[in-house]
Amino acid sequence: MPVDNSPASSFAPADVDHADLAFVWDRFLKIIREHVKPLPVMTWFEPIRPLSLQNDHLKVQLPNAFFYDWLEEHYNATIQTALTQVLGPTASLTYEIAQPDLFDGFDKHPSVAPSVEPAANEYDHKQLARNIPPSEEPQIDHDELYRASFLNPRYTFDNFIRGDGNQFARAAAMNVANNPGLTSFNPLVIYGGVGLGKTHLLQAIGNASFQNKKATKIIYLSSEMFTVQFVDAIENNKTKEFSDFFRSMDILIIDDIQFLSGKEKTQENFFHTFNTLHQLKKQIVLSSDRAPKEIRGFDERLISRFLWGVTVDIQPPDLETRIAILQMRSDQDNITIPREVVEFVASNIKTNIRELEGCYYTMIARHMLDQRPLDLALAEEALRKVTSSVQKQITVEQIQKIVAEFFNISENLLRAKTRKQEIAFARQIAMYLAKNFTSASLKTIGLHFGGRDHSTVIHACQTISAAQADDPDIKEKIQQIEKQISLTHF
Ligand code: ADP
Ligand code: MG
Repeated sequence: MPVDNSPASSFAPADVDHADLAFVWDRFLKIIREHVKPLPVMTWFEPIRPLSLQNDHLKVQLPNAFFYDWLEEHYNATIQTALTQVLGPTASLTYEIAQPDLFDGFDKHPSVAPSVEPAANEYDHKQLARNIPPSEEPQIDHDELYRASFLNPRYTFDNFIRGDGNQFARAAAMNVANNPGLTSFNPLVIYGGVGLGKTHLLQAIGNASFQNKKATKIIYLSSEMFTVQFVDAIENNKTKEFSDFFRSMDILIIDDIQFLSGKEKTQENFFHTFNTLHQLKKQIVLSSDRAPKEIRGFDERLISRFLWGVTVDIQPPDLETRIAILQMRSDQDNITIPREVVEFVASNIKTNIRELEGCYYTMIARHMLDQRPLDLALAEEALRKVTSSVQKQITVEQIQKIVAEFFNISENLLRAKTRKQEIAFARQIAMYLAKNFTSASLKTIGLHFGGRDHSTVIHACQTISAAQADDPDIKEKIQQIEKQISLTHF
């Protein structure tokens, strides 16, 4: 997905290096969340792993080729917009594919790999066989298996803070990770509200079991991904491979099963997979946003299966836990935040750890990019943004206001008929920015500028793009305005 030179916004990329990868990625996801609904964000964007950042070149890893196709087909434009907003007009993005195909890891595993070797390899294998004691296990490529698991190494028990609200879920998860499939905690169902650590715990189970070698074949999937793969398998006549694949797992982890609601065929397949794995004493771990019996649109048989094991809930974190989470984040980032600031943020965001982290990253971004001190004023500002502006978009009016202030003219002039050169120029810049920062159509933008038609807006965008390319002075000015917009908006 190469990124074109479509004009866009924001920070000068030069001072962004690998240390900033985390918050560049966080900002990127934030912008994506403004354009894409939560479920697809979770399914298609959260599993992406940012790998590196060099100047304005971002490299990420996708779990498999299927992701690539899907993103390319559905989110290409959105990704480009977000990328240019975060890293500037010359930003580029490359992908690394962790696993060419979902079933690849399956083929590679010794216990299911084809037993007949290609003739060309025969000699080598015999040679090798002579040097290996007969009892030795066949070589397992652990990296390969790990990549095939879709696990994200970021989520561990070590960096999961224990608190009143999550202690039972955490203990159950650790128990399962130590003895996958062998306890009565099968399935383990963890349920609770948004941003409370369900995904973190599910992933931590997979990571810990893989590390302690209690399981080698692990797969973590969102229920949406499970469904998409299932439908894909049906379309490609691969349902047998699909079933065999899942039934060969040591641990099957499916996140947010509430999204399987109403999907009868997928549920039916899941039901059979569940039974087989359970009989084989293989571990199943699930999460949901509510207690299993409260999920609507679910096959009763499936619900009753969930109750075979253990269901634990996660409650919102208490103040100490919230403080500890912020403290841990800042320690990891090697940043010292005054205690009163940490306490202020932690006492104001009570029910969603993702928001808590969002606030933290907003503060850090401003601190690093604007050299703002990490004080209460900054915390208050970040908090306002995070709590009031979840999903809030900047409007054409706000852009007009910022541009008018920048050029020290009245906002009304931007909407008036006047053709005075400086005014016309400011107006064109405002149109251009409105196009880049809002999802308003050309027509709507034109209406905001005194009822001009869409071709005027196109002309403005072209003029400003060209002017930026020709004149460093203009480019600089626009970057300053864009920075202003980002800060107001962010
Ligand atoms: P959920 O899946 O319940 O919506 P997540 O697992 O995605 O929530 O958690 C949201 C964010 O909060 C993640 O970045 C996660 O790492 C972090 N988080 C949640 N609980 C904890 C915790 N107890 N300790 C540290 N980080 C946590
Ligand atoms: Mg989750």
